[in-house]
Amino acid sequence: MATGCNEFIVSGKVIGVGTNKFHDKCFACARCAASLAGQKYAMLPKASGGTSLYCANCTKAVNDEKQAEAMSRIATDAAAAMGTGATPPPSS
Ligand SMILES: [Zn+2]
Ligand SMILES: [Zn+2]
Repeated sequence: MATGCNEFIVSGKVIGVGTNKFHDKCFACARCAASLAGQKYAMLPKASGGTSLYCANCTKAVNDEKQAEAMSRIATDAAAAMGTGATPPPSS
């Protein structure tokens, strides 16, 4: 079973990463679909379980998005606590 696409690996080139196996075609970035063969990549856990592969660029982008999401959640929580809704505070 390929970790990348959850399909059985019947034939063809197989790329093994630790205990995970990938088809040649699914050893690609989950975000931009760039082939990761011979490239730097990261394996990040999926929210739905399993793992996704990301190229170096997308690893950074995904981490930035997570950070932005976390920060916007904090901002929303703070706004809700103040009872001001989503209106940003006036800049002085
Ligand atoms: Zn596959
Ligand atoms: Zn990518």
